[in-house]
Amino acid sequence: MATVPNLRFLRGYNDAVVLGLARSGAVTRVDLAERSGLTPQAVSKVVGRLIADGLLVETGTRNVGVGKPRTLLSLVADSRLALGAQVERDELRVVLTDLAGTVLDRVHAPLPRDYDPPTFIAELARLIALVRPVDDERLLGAGIGIVGPVDHRTGVVHDATGLVGWHDVPLRELAERSLGLPVVVDKDTNTAVLAEAWRRGDAVRDAVLVLVGTGVGVGLLLDGRVYRGARTNAGEFGHTTLSLDGPKCVCGRTGCVEVLHNLAAAAGDLAEATSIVGTAMADLVQLLDIDHIVLAGRAVLAAPADYLSAVRAKMPRDDWLPVDVSVTPLGDDVVAAGAAMLVLSEFYGRPR
Ligand SMILES: [Zn+2]
Repeated sequence: MATVPNLRFLRGYNDAVVLGLARSGAVTRVDLAERSGLTPQAVSKVVGRLIADGLLVETGTRNVGVGKPRTLLSLVADSRLALGAQVERDELRVVLTDLAGTVLDRVHAPLPRDYDPPTFIAELARLIALVRPVDDERLLGAGIGIVGPVDHRTGVVHDATGLVGWHDVPLRELAERSLGLPVVVDKDTNTAVLAEAWRRGDAVRDAVLVLVGTGVGVGLLLDGRVYRGARTNAGEFGHTTLSLDGPKCVCGRTGCVEVLHNLAAAAGDLAEATSIVGTAMADLVQLLDIDHIVLAGRAVLAAPADYLSAVRAKMPRDDWLPVDVSVTPLGDDVVAAGAAMLVLSEFYGRPR
């Protein structure tokens, strides 16, 4: 049985802050001091350590008028690597990313109907072996984005919706033992919204990512952090009620967003299906005052223009309440890439 190394965290909070700032582009030591609030002496010390660890590199100079040119520092993107996985009811997808979150390699395979945890772990290990560099010190760990309910802190999957025989499965523990790597587990919608937040940096602080696949769920980014709720169960938005006397849903309630959307989609009524998602998203804008909506998931990717225009049509008309609606450019990778970014954000020491 493989031993599990500790997550290789940075040496301290200041190192994480400096590295996080360098992620958005080349910076000088003066920029870093201004943006971090650290003293020039502290920045100098941290930068020295990060260069010694191979995480930062000096890449040239910037002229600043009077005085000598300032040295530019850049992130060494391939100095660390992370794996990410998306677990669906019928498919497994694995990506390898660098420290900047760029997807370097990807692989996917169907999962058998009603697969059990041991079958899943074997398939996870098989796919990871296809993209994982062998004996590579740069590999930080693996993230797993899975359909909920799942407890992010303990890595235990409760009765995952639509997965038969998955009752209180210690997924993180099983995966760590099998892979010999540190593993983090989160709900698929949370890793997906993290992927968007990571990609767009501080420009996006209050956002909802809606994942429309076999189910409908949302990932919430509130005030710059992924909002998981008390039990990692936030975002079960597919099971909020849109129609009091609507059809029965798999969850036992009636008239949920998910059942209304899926029935319309199954009947081939794309206009109705997309309009339901738009109406539901408008409710979230009213509730949370978010200014970014990101559309993702198989159903969206099959008809991106239809979902985009239907959701935009339902947004508030007020000039002072603009809501940016977009389709994720990460496509099918969004959940798996976000799972890898979960590992990277733990490395940076600033989980979002
Ligand atoms: Zn429901």
